[in-house]
Parts: sequence; C-alpha cells; structure tokens
Amino acid sequence: MSRTALIAAMHEELAALLPAIEDARTEQRGGREFWLGRLGEHEVIAVRSGIGKVAAAVTATLLLDHYQAQRVLFLGVAGGLGPGVKVGDVVVADALLQHDMDASPIFPRHEVPLTGLARFPVDAAFSAAVARGAAAAIAQAGRSTEAAELVGHPSRVHRGLIVSGDRFVSTSAESQALREALPDALAVEMEGAAVAQVCHAFDVPLAVVRSISDRADDTAHIDFGAFLSRVAGPLGLAIVQQALRF
Ligand code: SAH
Repeated sequence: MSRTALIAAMHEELAALLPAIEDARTEQRGGREFWLGRLGEHEVIAVRSGIGKVAAAVTATLLLDHYQAQRVLFLGVAGGLGPGVKVGDVVVADALLQHDMDASPIFPRHEVPLTGLARFPVDAAFSAAVARGAAAAIAQAGRSTEAAELVGHPSRVHRGLIVSGDRFVSTSAESQALREALPDALAVEMEGAAVAQVCHAFDVPLAVVRSISDRADDTAHIDFGAFLSRVAGPLGLAIVQQALRF
C-alpha cells in the first residue's frame, strides 16, 4: 500500500486532521513530530513543517528519504494574487515557482541555478484528484455556517501557478509587484515551491492545495488570522478526506 505524506506549515492547518488519523503513533525527527497512521484505507504520515522554504525543504527531505513517502500532499493557506482568486477559494497548483529566487544575470530570474527550472512540476493525476476533492469539500463546507459566513460568497477551485518566497506578502504594493513580475500567479505562500524542488529531486509525485486566507494586501494580516483559526483546519481535513477518495 502506498504511503501518502501530508504536510502543512502551521499548527492550525493540521489541527483538524491529526485527530482524524487512526492507529496514530508519533516519532520525533529533525525537530519535527511525524504522525504515522491511516485515514480510511490509506497509509498516511502527517507533519507540521514550520514556516518558510528551508523548514519545508527539510521536512520534505525527511519524508522522502527517511520515511519513504510515495507521494506528497502539501496543504494550507495562501494569499490570493490572481484577479478572481478570493478569500475562501481554493487553489490547486499546476506548477510552483520561488518568487524570491534571483541569480540574474548569471541565470534567468526565478530559475533555480543548475536545475534549469523556474517552474517546478506537480503530478497531474494526483493534482486532478486533489482538485476534485477540493470541489467536493467546498460543497460540504458550504453547508457549514461558520465557513459560509466568514467567506460570504460561493467558493471556487482554481488551477494554476502558486509562487513561494520567504516573505508574508501583506501590502498592496508587494502583491502588485508580484502580479507584474508573474502575471499568471494565482496565489502566494511560503513553502510550496521548496517542497516541489525536493519532490522533483526525488522524483516523487506532489500536489499542493491552498485555501485563500487573504488577498496578500494591506488587510492580509486581519483576514489571515480569522480564516486560519476558523476555516483552514476543517477545510483542510475535508479536502484531504475527499482527495484520497479519488
Ligand atoms: N504566524 C504569523 C505568520 C504566518 S506566515 C502570523 O500569524 O502572522 C504565513 C503562512 O501562511 C505561511 O505558511 C504561508 O505559506 C501562508 N500564507 C498565507 N497568506 C500569505 C501571504 N499573503 N503571503 C505569504 N504567505 C502566506
């Protein structure tokens, strides 16, 4: 049976998921707590990476090299960048890029030196399953008054580019600069592209799913806090449960 790794950066993003793991046991490694067990008939290993690209890369490496995870699902919250990407929507990555990588003029801007890549791939079939799972989870969450009240509009699932960098993007000037540099970016966060680089190195399938907690603008810190504490956890669990069914 294949082992699916589930990673999120923050406690709140995993808060609903960890108690749902059956026959759970935990192991400490590299300053992280790994939860091994099952979700239904799926063998899973869940872990909080911490925030930022290095924290995410260390965690992904442990999952692949030590725990031999056969596929990786990164879940969490992100800031919306694309024009129609609203708080409460979900973005499933079809590629990931480090927006703060810049070794120009020696290498093209955003390219990770010596990999030849700026945009790291995801697994198409797994990501499609996650997108279907996210749509099903949204349909389910629509019936929960808490999520519906906070979001205030019907949520949508988007597919496209997610960009990552070691910066919480919380001014309109910064998000505008990102939109100009990367017009097709749908969402910004701080871990996904690092995990994608590790999964690419190990040739292990990856999907990244983010619910939009803020618009990466001057109100980002307010929206972010409310969404994180009230919606991110339950929505994350629902997305994972639904995604594993496909
Ligand atoms: N704990 C701090 C900082 C959180 S950093 C706080 O409470 O303010 C933001 C986390 O959420 C990261 O893990 C990142 O992946 C994601 N995220 C959500 N919105 C983001 C944004 N606008 N810019 C960058 N990362 C964002």
